[in-house]
Amino acid sequence: MNWLTNYVRPRFRALVRSGTKPEVPENLWHQCSSCERMIFHRDLEANQRVCPHCNHHMRVGPEYRFQSLLDEGSWSRIELPKVPLDPLKFRDSKRYADRLKEAQGKTRTQDALEAAHGRIDGLPAVVAVMNFEFMAGSMGAAVGEAFVTAARLAVLQEAAFIIVTSSGGARMQEGAVSLMQMARTTLAVEEVKEAGLPYIVLLTDPTTGGVTASFAMLGDIHIAEPGAVIGFAGARVIEQTIRETLPEGFQKAEYLLEHGMVDMVVHRFEMRATMARLLGLLFRRQHPPSEPAGKPAIVRPAEAVLAPAPAVAPARSGDKPAESATDEAEAAAPAPKSGD
Ligand SMILES: [Zn+2]
Repeated sequence: MNWLTNYVRPRFRALVRSGTKPEVPENLWHQCSSCERMIFHRDLEANQRVCPHCNHHMRVGPEYRFQSLLDEGSWSRIELPKVPLDPLKFRDSKRYADRLKEAQGKTRTQDALEAAHGRIDGLPAVVAVMNFEFMAGSMGAAVGEAFVTAARLAVLQEAAFIIVTSSGGARMQEGAVSLMQMARTTLAVEEVKEAGLPYIVLLTDPTTGGVTASFAMLGDIHIAEPGAVIGFAGARVIEQTIRETLPEGFQKAEYLLEHGMVDMVVHRFEMRATMARLLGLLFRRQHPPSEPAGKPAIVRPAEAVLAPAPAVAPARSGDKPAESATDEAEAAAPAPKSGD
């Protein structure tokens, strides 16, 4: 077999190639993984890597997301802390240390999460993007550390925090250490929320496992790309466990939108505009988008309680007409802290 694969097959290929025209470089045409039709690479780029035939949203990496979401020239990458690699000295068919090196060589990045800070339509934002190319976007200590760093920078800069997820879940080669990242990232999200800053999750294909079970489901707003698979366990595993056939489109973004697990399914063409609009609403923007970006008015929860909307203000004031003693007592009491 070795003789056949190592010697005969390459020689045979060389013979076949020498007799034909020079080969077209493979990367000029791209085959859509959904409809299997061929797309010329320039058409694909012009279409934001969405299949022009079937609208399939292909996976894109962090650099692409930074460029497409953040204002041109406004952003720069965040340097992420290094973490001890391979804490368990894990080995399956390959050493984990070797797998890491291989992934780092292939993607030219340290690990599966990258982050940048900049502006979206003039509003400050920290964007963290998971890279599915790096060991299926799995979450280990490095991803957890990167997430916490990006979240804290958002708090420091009073910026919105946006995470673009794409992950197979926790990184099994790091065992319990990877599971601990679920708690760490959840606490980092809490820090952003305590600072009264928006935390937006953009779910892209696929978002599964420990990532779905932690920071990917904690957003103020969940946006998903069309057709993205989002779930905890895979459909096959669920089917085998519950011994029932799952409904059509189960775990797809559109199905989850119908069932209330995501807030919006947004086409990639509309993503930047949607993100800008949401940030404008959440920051209660006071400047029109065309004006030079000033410091946005951040409305913290405490201020929101102190300054109720005009419609609510009369109800909160103490001098509303009271009909009985109980009402008077209620009216005299301070306005409740919870409310609109
Ligand atoms: Zn297609």
